[in-house]
Amino acid sequence: MLKFDIEKKSGLARAGIIHTPHGDIKTPAFVGAATRATVKALTMKEMRELGSQAILANTYHLLLAPGTDLIKEAGGLAEFSSWHGPTFTDSGGFQIFSLPDVKITENGAKFKSHINGDKFEMTPESSMQAQWAIGADIHMAFDQLAKSENKKDMEDAMHRTHRWLDRCVEEHHRLLLKNKRCEVIRDNGSEIASEARNDGPERSGPSNACSEQYLYAVVQGGTFNDLRAESARYSASKDVDGFGIGGVFVADGMPEMLQTVNSILPEEKPRHLLGMGQEPIDLFIGAENGCDTFDCVAPTRMARNGSLYTLDGRINIKNAKYKNDFTPLMPECDCECCKNYNRAYLHHLFKTDEITAKVLASIHNERFVVSVVNKIRESILNNTFEEYKKEFLDRYYK
Ligand SMILES: [Zn+2]
Repeated sequence: MLKFDIEKKSGLARAGIIHTPHGDIKTPAFVGAATRATVKALTMKEMRELGSQAILANTYHLLLAPGTDLIKEAGGLAEFSSWHGPTFTDSGGFQIFSLPDVKITENGAKFKSHINGDKFEMTPESSMQAQWAIGADIHMAFDQLAKSENKKDMEDAMHRTHRWLDRCVEEHHRLLLKNKRCEVIRDNGSEIASEARNDGPERSGPSNACSEQYLYAVVQGGTFNDLRAESARYSASKDVDGFGIGGVFVADGMPEMLQTVNSILPEEKPRHLLGMGQEPIDLFIGAENGCDTFDCVAPTRMARNGSLYTLDGRINIKNAKYKNDFTPLMPECDCECCKNYNRAYLHHLFKTDEITAKVLASIHNERFVVSVVNKIRESILNNTFEEYKKEFLDRYYK
């Protein structure tokens, strides 16, 4: 079972530590979106320096390129990408069900690669196998995205997600057992090998394929509170290590929905809010209502378009008013961009379409969300969450 220590609780909110085979994640934490085993425009060294604790890659994209077997051969996602820290994969369901000509049956989903038209079928079993090959510490169960937001479609997708969860759990346990045998062979083998060689540290690479990996169920149910409750109850009854909370939310209904779900899910297991974090308020709502980790592609995507966070709200650095603004992007920020460059320079880089514009902007936006969530964690530990939330949101959304 994935080890998760809760350090402090306040209502549904909690601060804790998830212990993964690749290191600890102090929660609440913002997880970097490394869809294709890279965070766009950033190196893993830059990610470490800006304080990121974990990355999340996408199974659909890695299945298409470079292929999951190649990542396994490289020693797994953390080694392949040179991240060397905690890793997550999402199942690929969200991307596959967003494709134009996907065919869904009870068995799984048939689709064509958007790169070269090659045909694929993803099933709960093959998603688990792909995620084991990629070798992230934490995997997501293969879930079905509803084809519309009407209740019948949401309910059908949720029930299929539950049936698929059963198959994911079974396949995960089969792979876990296979892996245990692998570990015994590896341990005995490496002991013999190191005695024979006696030539320094053991090679870490491909042996990662034998390390422990963990499964999160994904709670569905869309915008309907009763469906969310049903999905949380079903997911909670399964032998999984944690929970992803997926699907669509309406902004107004999010606090109530998360309260419903997280009041049902067992307290001792971690919860990941999938794909939320474009708006800082979502991070506060998520943490306040019991979510431990978050991921979202929006901070770096917006950065590449020149849309940058500041404590006074988001600004578009391409706007003419920044042409002669020689102040830092955000004086309170400790990132490489804000410490060394000014708004006029960033404006110039964006207007002339320099690659460095995207790099510096991504460093800042990613640092911004990482640091907001880190401060949320500190405020939970210090009993000052309400004060921090009010201070931050009053200024950001004034
Ligand atoms: Zn900054």
